[in-house]
Amino acid sequence: MSQIPVPENETARLQLLHELELVDSESEPLYDNITELVKEVLGVDAALITLIDEERQWFKAKVGMSETETPREHSFCTYVVTSGQTMVVEDARQDRRFQDNPYVIAENGVRAYAGAPITLFGEYHLGSLCVVATEPRSFSAREVRYLEILADWIATTITDRYELKNYRAERDILAQGPVCAVVWRLEPDVHLSYVAENAKRVLGYDDDYLLRPDINYESIVHPDERQELLDRMQRLIDGEASALEMDYRVIGQKNGQDVIRWVYHFARADLDKDGNVLRVRGYLLDDSKGKLLELQLRETNQNFELALTAGDLYTWSWNLQSNQLHTSQPWQLVLGYPGDTPERLDWRELVHAEDFELLKHNLRKYLNSGEERFEARFRIRHRDGHYVWVHSVGRLVDTDHDGRPLRMTGIHHDISEQVANEQFLQQQAEILELVSHIQHDFMLAKDFSDVCDEALPKLMRMTSTTVGFVGELPPGSSRYNLVLAHGLRIAADQKRTEGYQQLIRQGLEVEVSGDVIDNVLKKGQPQVCQQPISKLELHCQPPAFPELKNGLVLPLYFKRDVVGLMILGNSDERFKAHFLNLLRPMLDTLGTLMHMRRMDEERRAAVNELRRLATTDELTGVANRRVFWEAVEQRYDEFMRYDAPMSVAIIDLDHFKKVNDSFGHAAGDEVLRVFCARAKEQLRDIDLLGRLGGEEFAVLFPYTSRDDALKAMERVRKAVARASINFAGKELQITMSAGITEVRRSDDKLDLWLARADAALYQAKEKGRNQCVTG
Ligand code: GH3
Ligand code: MG
Ligand code: MG
Repeated sequence: MSQIPVPENETARLQLLHELELVDSESEPLYDNITELVKEVLGVDAALITLIDEERQWFKAKVGMSETETPREHSFCTYVVTSGQTMVVEDARQDRRFQDNPYVIAENGVRAYAGAPITLFGEYHLGSLCVVATEPRSFSAREVRYLEILADWIATTITDRYELKNYRAERDILAQGPVCAVVWRLEPDVHLSYVAENAKRVLGYDDDYLLRPDINYESIVHPDERQELLDRMQRLIDGEASALEMDYRVIGQKNGQDVIRWVYHFARADLDKDGNVLRVRGYLLDDSKGKLLELQLRETNQNFELALTAGDLYTWSWNLQSNQLHTSQPWQLVLGYPGDTPERLDWRELVHAEDFELLKHNLRKYLNSGEERFEARFRIRHRDGHYVWVHSVGRLVDTDHDGRPLRMTGIHHDISEQVANEQFLQQQAEILELVSHIQHDFMLAKDFSDVCDEALPKLMRMTSTTVGFVGELPPGSSRYNLVLAHGLRIAADQKRTEGYQQLIRQGLEVEVSGDVIDNVLKKGQPQVCQQPISKLELHCQPPAFPELKNGLVLPLYFKRDVVGLMILGNSDERFKAHFLNLLRPMLDTLGTLMHMRRMDEERRAAVNELRRLATTDELTGVANRRVFWEAVEQRYDEFMRYDAPMSVAIIDLDHFKKVNDSFGHAAGDEVLRVFCARAKEQLRDIDLLGRLGGEEFAVLFPYTSRDDALKAMERVRKAVARASINFAGKELQITMSAGITEVRRSDDKLDLWLARADAALYQAKEKGRNQCVTG
């Protein structure tokens, strides 16, 4: 006996056979009748409906056969099942496939056979409708055809029963389940024509209610979504869309209260063969639970974002391939991008140029080193141009097959405030250091302009300004529009700055006008002049004063008095409010140092005055006797050392007593003053005129011969005698006599030299006064 053939799809075939639950089932009259009929019509000994399972052929119906089943290997039908073709065997004993078959060999065994396959779904041959004869015989084509038609018919009944069973099972499941099937008819109007029984459970409405002609389905849909549903249904009906898929709310009633269900609605249009829409089938799923979960998740996410936002934390996600940075909506708001116009942000364009390289370096380091997390601090540009300080932490969350990074996510932390505080503290430290530095410098050098030259560049850098000025209100002045410049600097113009420094050392006065006078100099309030600065706010003269576009104008205080002002001008950024706090120690220091400078100047002036008083004659202002004799002694020593020529003249006014006696002592004093003035006019700067006492004077002529000294004294004498002196409306005449002599080597003592001069003066008096005599 040859090997039993097996169909190619045997596993699936057997599975279907078991699913049908036909094998070993009760006999059914329908199939019994068929076999009866076939036996009669074909005039055979037996007719069978066989089903082939793993091991056997089992007879669903049989007539003329006592067995209910036979082993598969002895079955003729197994050949039909394998080939799927009708098989006719006219004489089994002549057929090599069956000549050893026990049913063929047996007495009254099978000699002739004809079987047509029972085929489901075109591919599963479950068994056959067959006939058997105990004598060899042939079968006409009509007989074979007859068998085949009945076999097909049997297959159809099995298929139908199978589908019905499936359908029922499905329907049972659907009726239990969350999906409600509905059908809309389109003619004569759009209305539900079928609603599954589970409508009540899914939608909260009875199928009967929904099918009522006066009820529109959309009436149960939430008004917010109603129009969209109608529009989309219309598109489906118009053939513009092939399917509809949407979530909406259905409003139901329970105990007089609205109950909302979320419904997932899937619908398709049924088309006829010309593509016209016949009806719309819909599947409605009560998705309240899912929707609630979704909403809950969304809310949770929002809460998460909210919680993050409250802590100035914002999520980001960065696609390394496309270089797109997706950030949470609140973050976009932080950067000034309104949430409803999500813009694709390219981080490379937004990061501050100064931070870009470091950020890239940190990223590379993170991606290459496999560190736990990425971390960086940088500035991101706000939409309006200013920068937001960010602390960013992130992690790689996605890589491609080759392990290349695809996506990173992380959190931004807005640390602008923190950075501002840090910067403030740092700037404060810088200011305090600068304060102590300039105090120290001032103590050593006592030069306030130096202090300004030191402080201004640093303050300008700190406030991002390009013009700096420090001026002092002149002490005791009631004029507030004129300030004495101590520092004037223009960043990036060293030459002009040096020019100003020179002017300042010569005493540069700057005239200010505008609101600044009242606000800053009189009331002592700082003034912030915004761009562009107006002439009404602040105007500075001379015209060489640098142009100011905007400025901080700050009063300088000593104790409670405004002693001057500082201008920091032409900022490239808006002035920040904290600058005033920041600069306060500097303002106090500059004010104090300015005051100290003033005190120092006043003290110096007082000392000079004392010195002057100690060295000059009070009445005439010429050198007093002590100073004069000291100078003479010094010159005498010089002469002894270097042989420099030197002369001296001793002068006595003639008949001076008479002036006093005739016009009073005050007139005498005036004569003495006029004499000195006239004498000085005729003398050189190096000639020293001194008052020896009363109406007696002397002149020391360094590097001068006796003859030259005589010439000078003659000029003096003539100048004194030439014009009368007006005193209280009276004209006074005066003359003088002088004795002149040059120092000689033989004058080993100073007194010898001076005695000669005295003697010459005596001679001049003797000779009649108003003359100069040399000795
Ligand atoms: P002569 O020298 O020509 O011989 O006559 P004289 O009148 O100048 O003589 P004398 O030297 O005796 O007089 C000096 C007078 O000068 C005496 C004194 O009253 C006066 N005298 C001295 N010091 C001052 C002074 O500071 N102011 C005034 N008004 N008079 C003074
Ligand atoms: Mg005299
Ligand atoms: Mg005299």
